[in-house]
Amino acid sequence: MKKIVIAIDGHAGCGKSTTARLVASKINYLFVDSGAMYRAITLYVLQNEISTDNSNEIIKYLENITLSFEINPETRKNEIILNGKNVEGEIRGLRVSNNVSKISAIKEVRSFLVKQQQELGKQKGIIMDGRDIGTVVFPNAEIKIFMTASIEARAARRIEELKNKGESFSEEDIIKNLEERDHLDSTRKESPLKKAEDAIVIDTSQLTIDQQVDKVIALVETKTESL
Ligand code: C5P
Repeated sequence: MKKIVIAIDGHAGCGKSTTARLVASKINYLFVDSGAMYRAITLYVLQNEISTDNSNEIIKYLENITLSFEINPETRKNEIILNGKNVEGEIRGLRVSNNVSKISAIKEVRSFLVKQQQELGKQKGIIMDGRDIGTVVFPNAEIKIFMTASIEARAARRIEELKNKGESFSEEDIIKNLEERDHLDSTRKESPLKKAEDAIVIDTSQLTIDQQVDKVIALVETKTESL
């Protein structure tokens, strides 16, 4: 079967990464969660007490940041490594979530990461999720998907995810974070979140994870048969 590039973009918390990870393991593709890369840079900024408003200072520090992914042998999940340390757990908290959209709006941060993402896609057989994957990172991706879901469905899933990690937040805090991120991500100047013209929309509000995965797999099968 010919290997292709699959780009998944969409709003915060609609199951992009979970779907992409499961699809990748079913069809033996490389999965890259590009949001984890923006989150890792945000974590670095917070840990080093660099002001999140000082973009000049943040840009200067980029050369000190090395990112990679490694497979966790227990979970088989691809996890992010920041300067040699696995930070997969640390990047998911609300502090990083509340600051990441500011950091990801910086042009130089984006070009720093887009270059690395394009490098990863060179060998094809990759599924990447984010906000600008079908529009900027892989404009020639064979499959582009734009995922969305109601704010209620997205908040409920996020609360469940954080609860499983032993963190608890009010529904109000979660909804506020999702809405603020969507707003900042869609209105920023550099590569705003938007549906690529040729993207297929999947609304996941009423879908189970298995149904989301099946929909994407069906698209991949149809596409690769026609190549
Ligand atoms: O995918 P996730 O919700 O973890 O992404 C966290 C944040 O990273 C997004 O809200 C957005 O600000 C930024 N992001 C981005 N471009 C991407 C992926 C994520 O700007 N391709």
